Amino acid sequence: MVKKAKTQKNQNDQKNQVDQQQTIEKIIPKDKLDSLIKGIYKDFKMIVPKKAENEVEFGYLDLDNEEYQFPEYQNLRISPKKFLFPQNEVLYSFEKEDNKIKIKEKEEIIDDQVIFGIRSCDARSYKILDTFFSSGKYSDPYYFNKRNKTLLIGLACNEPMSTCFCTSVGGDPFSSEGLDAILFDLGDKYIFKITSEKGSIFNKYVKEYPDVEQADLKRKEEWASSSRDKIQFNINLDNIEKDLDGLFESDIWSVVSRKCLSCGACSYICPTCHCFDVQDKYDKNEGTRVRIWDNCQTSIFTLEASGHNPRNSGRERTRQRIYHKFNYYLKNYKILGCVGCGRCIKVCPTNRDIRETLKTVVETAEKA
Ligand code: SF4
Ligand code: SF4
Repeated sequence: MVKKAKTQKNQNDQKNQVDQQQTIEKIIPKDKLDSLIKGIYKDFKMIVPKKAENEVEFGYLDLDNEEYQFPEYQNLRISPKKFLFPQNEVLYSFEKEDNKIKIKEKEEIIDDQVIFGIRSCDARSYKILDTFFSSGKYSDPYYFNKRNKTLLIGLACNEPMSTCFCTSVGGDPFSSEGLDAILFDLGDKYIFKITSEKGSIFNKYVKEYPDVEQADLKRKEEWASSSRDKIQFNINLDNIEKDLDGLFESDIWSVVSRKCLSCGACSYICPTCHCFDVQDKYDKNEGTRVRIWDNCQTSIFTLEASGHNPRNSGRERTRQRIYHKFNYYLKNYKILGCVGCGRCIKVCPTNRDIRETLKTVVETAEKA
């Protein structure tokens, strides 16, 4: 860990403040999108949605070895979190020599990279990770080495999934929060809008294209409104922190956790979950220190060496998950720790639904 650079947070804030007068909004015909991607690829490493066997996944673009066509997709099953916070990450290596341990720092060269086609909820999830990894006196160099080299080009969400609830947690399917540029799909063409100071670097790839016209902006608003209408779940979470303050010992936690298998899938798939463990992998005289994603929904997460486990049952672990995202995050950072992507709902083998839990919390607090 290194001392947090004073300017880092300011830089991140400034990145999202674009002078409205300089806002660039261009029209990209649908059949020109792939050439736009290829243009950006000449200067940046690119992470793009790619057709895999049965689904679309984010992956590195490699135009030397593959043909690429931008696919159709709803929000992807797996978020792009791993590109900045990998599931396994070597922190440094070490070796034993003459009974002394020598540490070899990791030399990581990160190219400037672009995540292209990220949805608004996932862009907001990076803002949450930014806050966590820069909280307190230190900032996490492993995360920020990558984060500070990464630009985000979003794709607004025309077809939210049945599990999406971003509008209940301060998001919007057409939000550009946390993005450097965003594409709005108007059906037959895209609007490409630069949304941060850093994002103005993309001007050179789009400047030849025509400017948006009033009619295009009107159509964009129609798409945005139709997208919001498709979000099936809406709940007012304005008082969620206070609601939870009074429910720590409530019986609801036994009820809402009843079906939970403690498999941890909801937490692994979550774009905002960031707990990690640090382990050494070694063989004879050398090894590496690695951090790996950890998971608060498994019983071993809080198991102490004495055998005592402060979160011994699904009741405590489910409660922890909800408190962490909807109470402790607000207390510590003044933001919610959930972006409403709905992935945890889709992946749960017993159909547990975080929206139902939130509804139970709000209704129970109202009755109390
Ligand atoms: S995915 Fe479902 S069953 Fe597994 S830990 Fe999460 S809530 Fe429990
Ligand atoms: S808790 Fe569920 S809905 Fe919220 S960000 Fe995580 S995976 Fe998405």
